[in-house]
Amino acid sequence: MTDGAHPARAEIVVDLDAVAHNVATLREVVAPAALMAVVKADGYGHGMVEVARVARANGADWLGVATPEEAVALRASGDEGRLLCWLAAPGDPYDAVLAADVDVAAYTPSQLNEIAAAAARAGVTARVHLKIDTGLSRGGATPEQWPDLCAHARDLERAGSVRAVAVWSHLVASDEPDHPANTDQSKVFDWAVDVAEQAGLQLEARHLANSAAAVLRPDLRHDMVRCGIAVYGLDPAPGVTPDIGLVPAMTVRGRLAMVKEVPAGAGVSYGHAWVAPAPTTLGLVPVGYAEGIPRAASPGAEVWVDGARRPVRGKVCMDQLVVDLDGDTPAPGSDFVLFGPGREGEPTAQEWAEAVGTINYEIVTRIGGRMPRRYVGKDRA
Ligand SMILES: *Cc1c(COP(=O)(O)O)cnc(C)c1O
Repeated sequence: MTDGAHPARAEIVVDLDAVAHNVATLREVVAPAALMAVVKADGYGHGMVEVARVARANGADWLGVATPEEAVALRASGDEGRLLCWLAAPGDPYDAVLAADVDVAAYTPSQLNEIAAAAARAGVTARVHLKIDTGLSRGGATPEQWPDLCAHARDLERAGSVRAVAVWSHLVASDEPDHPANTDQSKVFDWAVDVAEQAGLQLEARHLANSAAAVLRPDLRHDMVRCGIAVYGLDPAPGVTPDIGLVPAMTVRGRLAMVKEVPAGAGVSYGHAWVAPAPTTLGLVPVGYAEGIPRAASPGAEVWVDGARRPVRGKVCMDQLVVDLDGDTPAPGSDFVLFGPGREGEPTAQEWAEAVGTINYEIVTRIGGRMPRRYVGKDRA
């Protein structure tokens, strides 16, 4: 509801009970490993602060975000407990992050120096998670650089401004549990942990697995897993993950702006990429690529209207898209559901992802624009 009187024209409904259930489920699945709930990118489009609160309340041992700004914003919302942020660039605000009692990641000796200097200024000891690049070739020290990074961390520990509490890495192909990269990365990871310990670092945690590995590769869970997509109830490895009862938390819904009849031969939307082969009825859905609806949604994606799936016709516009109602004439203002948990037959974020050639992560994370978010469930504040 926008003002309690009219249902919203278009909105994102987030079911916090689903988040609570997913966190509790994951916690059971991965025990005795600890669970970090990843709430970066505004909680994958679901709302960082709300998801964080529900995750903490349902047993998440840690929270994880990417950027320092996300970490500081989360603390400003009242969040307490272990929190890791892992993506900074030189010059980023470590002072604020360390003052907020956030764990940070280090990839290089110079980054360790920056962290140590900020910690000294703040009069705190920074808790640092050293990242080994086990094969993704993204962040982290390469195996060649790793012994130096560990030695440098140990030197800074002696100086008192830093404590290296964890070694961590990230997987290449966790959604393909039998991919050889998993085994290769696991070996490098074990080696990196040994090197760190031999350098004298007293590790509190080793963490490697994201959602897919947390579920599919129990051998890679180590002390903690970092689960993002599964917290939101989406399948981290479609077609591979066993059913552990996760519930999708996001529904995108609203009301049709208009319904009309068109004759055979009517071209629909920009460029007339679709032309009606026979007389039909069309529904105007008042969301577009400004709301994060992929322009590539047509042909392929469907919208739930009046108890049926309706194909998107023609190009998705900035503010609106058109669906084929196939002769049906629901009243203007009738409900539509772009995607939801799929319980009533509506499409899911996974189906939208398949229709546009991407992954469910991208669908939910990019959804937004002018749509307000509404929280439902007994867990809402
Ligand atoms: C985003 C992210 C995760 C969470 O991944 P999911 O596949 O969503 O579980 C874990 N670790 C790192 C480093 C990430 O960037």
